[in-house]
Amino acid sequence: MKIALLLLLPLVLKAQQYDLIISNGKIFDGAGNPWFASDIAVRGDTIAAIGNLRDARATLRIDAHGLAVAPGFIDIHSHGRSGIFKVPTAENYLREGVTTIIEGPDGSSPVPLAPFFDKLAKTPISINFASFVGHGSIRAAVMGLVNRQATPEELEKMKALASQAMRDGAVGLSTGLFYVPGNYANTEEVIEIAKVVGAMGGFHESHMRDETDKIIDGVKETIRIGEEGHLPTQITHHKVIGKANWGASVETLKLVEEARARGVDVTIDQYPYTASSTGISALFPQWSLEGGNKAVVERLHAPDARAKIKAAIVYSIAEGRGGGDPKNIVIVSCGFDPSLAGKSLADLTPNVTIDKAAETAMALQEKGGCSAVYHAIDEGDIERIMRSPCTMIASDGDIPVFGKEAPHPRSYGTFARVLGVYVREKHILTLQDAIRRMSSMPAQRLKFQDRGLLRPGMKADIVVFDPATVADKATFEKPHQYSVGFQDVVVNGQPVLQDGQVTPARPGRILYGPAKQ
Ligand SMILES: [Zn+2]
Repeated sequence: MKIALLLLLPLVLKAQQYDLIISNGKIFDGAGNPWFASDIAVRGDTIAAIGNLRDARATLRIDAHGLAVAPGFIDIHSHGRSGIFKVPTAENYLREGVTTIIEGPDGSSPVPLAPFFDKLAKTPISINFASFVGHGSIRAAVMGLVNRQATPEELEKMKALASQAMRDGAVGLSTGLFYVPGNYANTEEVIEIAKVVGAMGGFHESHMRDETDKIIDGVKETIRIGEEGHLPTQITHHKVIGKANWGASVETLKLVEEARARGVDVTIDQYPYTASSTGISALFPQWSLEGGNKAVVERLHAPDARAKIKAAIVYSIAEGRGGGDPKNIVIVSCGFDPSLAGKSLADLTPNVTIDKAAETAMALQEKGGCSAVYHAIDEGDIERIMRSPCTMIASDGDIPVFGKEAPHPRSYGTFARVLGVYVREKHILTLQDAIRRMSSMPAQRLKFQDRGLLRPGMKADIVVFDPATVADKATFEKPHQYSVGFQDVVVNGQPVLQDGQVTPARPGRILYGPAKQ
């Protein structure tokens, strides 16, 4: 009797060997290959097998008949660092298939990073989380918000902070050369800091100095930082703002191709919307923003400065970010008056003219400023940039509290929108290529060698969705709408979305960069 049991034991163990099997799906492996029919099994946090697992046993079995099974999507540009503590499920991201977000973009991150990571590590979250270190935040820590070049001593301090952030686990250096105080740095300063980050295995991602009439210079500078800083470089949320500049992506993509041909590792990421989103201060001339908002308000009270600022804002509304009409600028949120969310600059300006709308923008900034959505991007540029083999998908979104404020719909819809509109409806990308640009491509950029592909041995971040129905629902008018079509989302082997329902599991981890100590 005892002997018989002992003999049977290995068979029983073998039959119950997996925690999860996703069966009968169309497997898109993330490398860009067409789907193949197979089952996929998970043990612990790892993909254990891919093949015919009809007779295998698992604690949980998900039927994916007729559905796509793909690696979890990696959002290489996210602003979720405050939202993740308010909404640790990051449900907006889960419901569009995102299993990892990368924070600290646009030159802005916590400095130092370690205390932030410590706090996050104590918070159970549903998705994985990584971060850049921001050049602007490093500069602010060393020099404040001043408009001048760094001294050699200051530059050394900035390099030391960048090095520390890499050891704390940053994936690379983000710059926001459009924003205060990154805009006060010359290219040489960024290159010197980039050299430190590159030597430690990191890469550079840039919100460029200009995305309007000087966009070509912005692209050249981003390439130069990679070329002279000896590190991979990425144009983030690549877009062309302002009607007069539409079509410039022909030239920007040519510059990227030429750089790659001579050996510069430059790539692009993009979100699929014809509007951007940032502070209302983006309408202001750069010189007027030095020293923070108190200094801005003082300038607005000095008649000469005010006249110059107003002229620049009028130009911005007419030719740049405003797309020629104050109704193209719509408030996301104003700290001093939540009721303004969703109203356009035209709504807020009686007998509106561009001139009067500029006055409104100045009044909003005087009260503390607002964030806004700007409708001034051309669909042609979006499609051209998307077709580039160098472009990955990233949201530039955040983790909104459901129903609060009037955020850009990209937070809820980016990845589902690419799959629904640009794959299924417009045929700009094939499904397998779109998935590649959401999974293995960002994983490769981030040096996440164990994610972004479906292979035995890789971490089990897996999404199951219906290519026939996947769609974004969030609009500029009604942004708080989850995407549809995702049935199951698995993070580190645990379902966080199961049969369309958010589960109590919080398996998300902090993913550290290559120099983490
Ligand atoms: Zn940005």
